[in-house]
Amino acid sequence: MNLSKAWSLKSMEGDSSIQDTLGDLLETLLDAAIVVGDDTRILASNASAYDAFGRNGAPLEGRRLSEVIRDFSLHDAFRKALSSGLSSEIDLELIGNETRKYTVRIAPINISGMTAAIGYFHDFTRIEKLERIRQEFLSNVSHELRTPLTSILAFVETLEDGAIDDQENGARFLSVIRRNAERMQRLIDDIQELTSIESGRILLEPRQCDLHSFVEDIFLSLKAKLSEKNITLVNEISQGITVFADPVRLEQMLVNLIDNGIKFNRKGGHVRVATTDSDQSTFVTVTDTGEGISSEHLTRIFERFYRTDRARSGDIGGTGLGLAICKHLARLHQGEITVTSSFGKGSTFTIELPKQL
Ligand code: ADP
Repeated sequence: MNLSKAWSLKSMEGDSSIQDTLGDLLETLLDAAIVVGDDTRILASNASAYDAFGRNGAPLEGRRLSEVIRDFSLHDAFRKALSSGLSSEIDLELIGNETRKYTVRIAPINISGMTAAIGYFHDFTRIEKLERIRQEFLSNVSHELRTPLTSILAFVETLEDGAIDDQENGARFLSVIRRNAERMQRLIDDIQELTSIESGRILLEPRQCDLHSFVEDIFLSLKAKLSEKNITLVNEISQGITVFADPVRLEQMLVNLIDNGIKFNRKGGHVRVATTDSDQSTFVTVTDTGEGISSEHLTRIFERFYRTDRARSGDIGGTGLGLAICKHLARLHQGEITVTSSFGKGSTFTIELPKQL
C-alpha cells in the first residue's frame, strides 16, 4: 500500500493516523481499490489494484487515472463523484492478454477536507466463466440423458401398445431399452467419476506396475469387442518394463484409450500399445489405424462431452467424458496425455508418466 507516499502529493502531512487507517482499510480489501484526487491523479491504491492495473513496476500513485485505465465511462463516473458528489456503479471490460470484467462502484469521499473519489473494482471474470461452464455442463448432461430416455419411453410405449404379446419383438425391444438404460448409467458413472477427480477426492496409490502383463490383462478384458471389426491388438511393450502409477487409474486410462482405438478403427485394423522413455518419464502410447481426428477436433477432444460429429451420429456409443477423465488422471500422476493424428490414417495417444511422483 503506497498511501503515505501518495498522500505526500497532497499536503496532508501531519494527518498520519488518517493515512494509516485508510491505508490499512484499503489493504484489507480483496477487490482492487483506487483513490483519485480532484485533479484525477491517483492518490492511493491497494496491492490488488497494482496486480490488476500496474505495469513495468511503476507505482500507480501520482499517475493520471486515464493513463492507467483507458475507459471513458470509468473516467466519467470518477468525474461525477469528484465534481457533483455522485456515486455510481458501472460495468467495465478491459481487453488485454486476457479480457477481464469488473463491476466498479465509485463514490466521493472527503479526507480531512480534501475532495477525492474512491473506486472499488469487483472482478467477476472467474465467476462468469464458472457460471458458463455450469450452464454448459447442465445443458450437456440433459441433452445426453434425453436421447436414451426418449428411446426408452418410445419402446415402453410400443410394448404397452401390444408388442409385449409378440415374444420375438418384445425381447428385441427390451434389449434396446436395456442398452439405452446402460448408456444412461455409464453417463452418470462417468459424471460421478469426473466430479470426484475434479473435487480432489481421489487419492493415488502408486506402485511399480509391470506394464507388459498389465496390457495383456486389459487386452483379455476387451476381447469381446474385437470380433465385429476383426481388430488386432498388439502389445509391443518389452517384458520387464515397469511404470510408477496407481494400477486402478492406469487401467482406467489404458482401457479408455484402447477401447477408443477399437471403436474408431476400420475393419481389420490394429491397436498397438508401446512405450518410449526419457530420463524423467515413461511414455505409454496407444496407436490405432482408424479414421484419425482432423485438426479442428484434435484440440477439443479432451473437453468434457466433446465428440466429433461422426462419433455422435454413428452408433458408436460413448459419453464424451472418457478423455476428460484420462486427462485428469494423467495430471494426478503429475503427467500429461497428448494426441497426434493423421486424418484418415489413425491416431496416437500418449500418456506421460513421471518415473517418480
Ligand atoms: P467417447 O466416450 O465418445 O469415446 P472420449 O472422451 O473417450 O469419449 O472421446 C471423445 C471423442 O474423441 C470421441 O467421441 C471421438 O470423437 C474422438 N476420439 C477419441 N479417440 C479417438 C480415436 N482413437 N480415433 C478417432 N477419434 C477419437
